Amino acid sequence: MTPARSLGSVAYSTHAVAVHRESASNDEYFMAVALSLARYGQPAPNPAVGAVVVRHGEIVGSGYHQRAGEAHAEVLALQRASVLSVGATLYVTLEPCNHFGRTPPCVDAVLRAGVSRVVVGCADPNSQVCGGGAARLRALGVEVTIDVLGARARKLLAPWLRSLRKAGRS
Ligand SMILES: [Zn+2]
Repeated sequence: MTPARSLGSVAYSTHAVAVHRESASNDEYFMAVALSLARYGQPAPNPAVGAVVVRHGEIVGSGYHQRAGEAHAEVLALQRASVLSVGATLYVTLEPCNHFGRTPPCVDAVLRAGVSRVVVGCADPNSQVCGGGAARLRALGVEVTIDVLGARARKLLAPWLRSLRKAGRS
């Protein structure tokens, strides 16, 4: 079984998740799920990123960045959640990007999806972003919480951060 096939909708029990509410400690619970999903990707030279969409305490969409040039984690998770994204909370291990790279800015997809809250593992240190993703979401009325399981999120990004430093981009 490949990781990609296991992530459709049955990779984990939503029953165990259903009793949770989106409180502070559950922010850590769902961020931990997003962090574990991120590890399935081979996205170098991009960062490994995972995301889940949570509505009424249940995961309704999930995704991870599989490889460079393909959809970013949060976009995949929102696509899978479809209309259930409206009013939901998006958990993403890295701040959504706000610039055009090989794919359009994820912030646009987040705004279109209608989530009411975004929980971020760690802020994007990429100089092209400089906090722009979270700032733009907040400016447009989305609640944003940053630095949930931040140490683990940064550890996941370590190879990418090293490559950025080598390139003089952070
Ligand atoms: Zn992105």
